[in-house]
Amino acid sequence: MQEKQLKYRDFPVSVIMDVPFSKLSLTETEEYLTRRILSGKTTHVVTANPEILMYANNSPEYKGILQSADMVVPDGIGVVYASRLRNDPVTERVAGYDLLHRLMSQADQHQLKVYLLGANDEVNRLAFERLANDYPNAIFVGRHHGYFKDGSDIEAMILNDIAEKKPDILFVALGFPRQELWISKHQPQLKIPLVMGVGGSFDVLSGKVKRAPVIWQKLGLEWLYRLISMPSRWRRMMVLPQFLIKEVLRKLKN
Ligand code: UDP
Repeated sequence: MQEKQLKYRDFPVSVIMDVPFSKLSLTETEEYLTRRILSGKTTHVVTANPEILMYANNSPEYKGILQSADMVVPDGIGVVYASRLRNDPVTERVAGYDLLHRLMSQADQHQLKVYLLGANDEVNRLAFERLANDYPNAIFVGRHHGYFKDGSDIEAMILNDIAEKKPDILFVALGFPRQELWISKHQPQLKIPLVMGVGGSFDVLSGKVKRAPVIWQKLGLEWLYRLISMPSRWRRMMVLPQFLIKEVLRKLKN
């Protein structure tokens, strides 16, 4: 699919594997999303890395969700490299975890209502405690763990709770692809001003999982740190070299 066929967005994008990635920097993204929340618009943000892109490449349904999301940010150094190979670079990596903190600082500043959905109950509670401590003026209206079945009574209860509490920001930590599928299914009814899938961010907030030291992040090696600290993820991470090889071959072909 060509860029011109994609939905219009009022910010510049770089299209990689048919998915339009925002070219806004982290700070511009924070400002853009805050303006949208405060002006009453609804926004679905996807933080997409090469793993997500490769999955989308094999799932038209999932790719359709990424294409119709209001904003897809480049959460992964592989996406940044791919955009450079395509001579249409994104400005910088916008990591979901960093964006979550930026949005929380806006929630603190504007006393926005926040709801945390996902991870197991203990992680969810610890993530909530950490955020409540760091952002005391944000209003935490609800939270729930993410171990419920689609279509279950628990899910109906969660949906009612969210609809009743009317958060300005809903963070959904159900892992991909479930979180994006869940959001795209329920956001049309919920109409949350800002809803974002945050993957394993609650695990990091809870202290159960450590993020790579800043120097590793700056060197673009966060993926390597994750691989070393969680070797069980190696199978999942095999898609990273596959993604880069695919992009390099595409470049050579062109
Ligand atoms: N999770 C959940 N419900 C599920 C599956 C996963 O709440 O049905 C949570 C899981 O506990 C973890 C997060 O979703 O907190 C996803 O973690 P993962 O490391 O897979 O995230 P990613 O690699 O996508 O950042």
